[in-house]
Amino acid sequence: MTTIRLYNTRTRSKGDFTPIDAQNVRLYVCGPTVYDRAHVGNARPVVVFDTLFRLLRHVYGADHVSYVRNFTDLDDKINATALQRQQAGAEGTLEALIHQRTEETIGWYHADMDALGAMRPTSEPRATEFVGAMIAMIEALIAKGHAYAAEGHVLFDVRSYPDYGQLSGRSVDDMIAGARVEVAPFKRNPMDFVLWKPSDDQLPGWESPWGRGRPGWHIECSAMSYELLGASFDIHGGGLDLQFPHHENEIAQSCCAHPGAGFANVWMHNEMLLVEGKKMSKSLGNFFTVRELLQQGYPGEVIRFVMLSTHYRKPMDWTAEKAREAEATLRKWRALSAGAQDDGQIDQAVVDALADDLNTAGAIARLHAMAREISANSTRDCFYEKGVFLASARLLGLLSDDLAGWDTEVDLSALTEKLTAVRADAMASKDFSGVDALKSALIAAGVEVRMSKAGVELVPGAGFDPAKLEGLL
Ligand SMILES: [Zn+2]
Repeated sequence: MTTIRLYNTRTRSKGDFTPIDAQNVRLYVCGPTVYDRAHVGNARPVVVFDTLFRLLRHVYGADHVSYVRNFTDLDDKINATALQRQQAGAEGTLEALIHQRTEETIGWYHADMDALGAMRPTSEPRATEFVGAMIAMIEALIAKGHAYAAEGHVLFDVRSYPDYGQLSGRSVDDMIAGARVEVAPFKRNPMDFVLWKPSDDQLPGWESPWGRGRPGWHIECSAMSYELLGASFDIHGGGLDLQFPHHENEIAQSCCAHPGAGFANVWMHNEMLLVEGKKMSKSLGNFFTVRELLQQGYPGEVIRFVMLSTHYRKPMDWTAEKAREAEATLRKWRALSAGAQDDGQIDQAVVDALADDLNTAGAIARLHAMAREISANSTRDCFYEKGVFLASARLLGLLSDDLAGWDTEVDLSALTEKLTAVRADAMASKDFSGVDALKSALIAAGVEVRMSKAGVELVPGAGFDPAKLEGLL
């Protein structure tokens, strides 16, 4: 059996992965807060951990992996949208409008992540369905002396857990000095964090021993992972931005509520996403959602390929150039594997690359080598090799039937002939306006126009839209 090696943030080292129970390998990944469309940075952990999920299924068997990713459907931004709608005259109770908002956002999330070829996790719990479990966990923390109630709130007492800060490698004193902590008169220590908070009539709330209120964000993951995966499980994943305080707080809650269980064995964090070398931000105007990228004409498969071309522990830079290259590669690979039979025979070098701490870039390099080999041997029958190539690409979630269709071959030969003729006329008349007009129209349709002494070459590029070619001939 393939040995998977993973980098564990907690031990800061790469080691052999041994599941607690090989019959049920358990993975938990922090999911989205469903208040709006997912931005492209949110998609990175989805693609990264989807690839891990596929690898685990390959190594341990498809029925032996449990992957839980939650929906945080309790959030002030969700409430604010619902309240706005109510004030704008929308019918229904605030509760119904909140439900409507989370339903529509979850629908968008599924559609967008499906478009990136991400498999649905085995379980997608919603926080609002586990409030009872959260209350029970908070009660246990109070009983064990790790939490205290004050003014309708319940707070976790970080001083009661000496290991607090171990995951991110900080001491509580450093955190107090460096963090923008919310100071509240009822906190014993500025680093103490909220497990429960009161809700007024305008907000969703549940009855609890501390009055009507709602849980804090961190307790959600501790309660849901415990309910669905148990007190100890194998891998906990999420974006690097969640390491502190969210994951630190999850560890404190879970380890104090279930002493000795250990919570998650391996902690995996993906690095952030940049756009053209810059941090994504609304003020820079480079902030976009997955849906916007899809609408700009980038196929989901291309977005996935670009994301997988960088190792998950390195910052990933989204560039139009990378997308263009990814699209050209995928067009080639799809043409190469058309009609091939996926018999589940996967190239071991591709598996080995992924098993080495999810070296997706290495796996893609191997696929390139396989593709080159098949192309070079195109005169002989490569039926078997093509099948292995296809199955291997599918281990990365690429070349699947679900993502097919965008690459449909288009015949640009007539337009190539036309541009060649118009260009020849222009050379003679020295009037290039006709060439410029045709070239602009082709570029507007997402066609790359390459003109050299050797001639004219037209290639469908990123954002290619065949509909826009109508009328150009
Ligand atoms: Zn979480």
